[in-house]
Amino acid sequence: KIKTVNDNYFGSYSSFGIHREMISDKVRTDSYRQALMKNPSLLTGAVVMDVGCGTGILSLFAAQAGATRVIAVEASEKMAAVATQGNNSKSTGVMEVVKSMVEELDKSIKIEPHSLDVLVSEWMGYCLLYESMLGSVLFARDKWLKPGGAILPDTAIMYAAGFGRSCTSLPFWEDVYGFNMSCVGNELVQDAARIPIVDVVQDSDLVTHASVLQKFDLATMSPDDVDFTATIELEPKSDNAVANLTESKAALCYGIVVWFDTGFTSRFCKEMPALLSTSPYTPKTHWCQTLLTLRDPIAIASMGQQPGDNSAVVGSEKCPVTRLSLRISIARGVEHRSIDISMEASGVDAG
Ligand code: SAH
Repeated sequence: KIKTVNDNYFGSYSSFGIHREMISDKVRTDSYRQALMKNPSLLTGAVVMDVGCGTGILSLFAAQAGATRVIAVEASEKMAAVATQGNNSKSTGVMEVVKSMVEELDKSIKIEPHSLDVLVSEWMGYCLLYESMLGSVLFARDKWLKPGGAILPDTAIMYAAGFGRSCTSLPFWEDVYGFNMSCVGNELVQDAARIPIVDVVQDSDLVTHASVLQKFDLATMSPDDVDFTATIELEPKSDNAVANLTESKAALCYGIVVWFDTGFTSRFCKEMPALLSTSPYTPKTHWCQTLLTLRDPIAIASMGQQPGDNSAVVGSEKCPVTRLSLRISIARGVEHRSIDISMEASGVDAG
């Protein structure tokens, strides 16, 4: 039998290690717990569906919060069995685990169209959309959520910022016990220009401020909205903030780091909204950040230089610029669990 994309995908979710990693990610799990447990007017007496329940953790929070029926849907056989067994006294009679793709749920249980009060799911992938199951969540929304019903989370926002040399392999290979192996670093940077890297980025690695790349409203968006092209501009950080990144006088931008926040906003979480942020400014999550490396770094405004003053020539002939102009397209790949990302960046002189 040839393994399909779905076999590989659900197979990977059959490993307990992944579920342990997700549950141990406190930033992630606590944001869902807060949204579910601290909004009694939303959850008390509610009919809830958890799309992709895994261990069942979000369904258990919903049951604990006073939901009267929680439909926990899970395609992986092994995890559906775990969710069924873990279905303890706190959720007896409330939580129903169904082993099914949510797209085929009709075959397994009877559920009235537009009868759900709350739809909850943890569907986010690396760079928000990689291996994303968002399409499955929107399918469930359109079929079973009541008009005006709550979707948790209800917003997703992608951000971008420029990263500096400290985020690349260059500094490491340049000084290996005093030997310069920068040929390795250079090769790795060229490789990175072809494939995104998931890694931890710190605030101090950034050479520009962040900008919103794309906003999604989960309550209203269509599944095709996940394919998008965004054009944004990034402002360099102030001189002091980038000073420590550079030996020469200019800060070089080696690429763009992308991250996302998802919101449990006051639209549905009236008593206590929550935010799950995967930014470089907040405690790290298992999503880390995603780095899109440029083939050639771009010099941005240098220390002590006024915007528009291009007198200082850095390294090569490149003149420092004041802003980075960026065009990023993200689209679902032919293998529908993958995504294709393309990026063009250029420097913009002031004036
Ligand atoms: N809700 C759990 C698990 C999140 S991981 C938690 O928060 O810890 C996503 C889960 O969704 C995986 O277990 C995966 O097998 C399941 N899943 C993904 N797509 C699905 C689909 N279309 N139908 C049913 N389950 C799905």
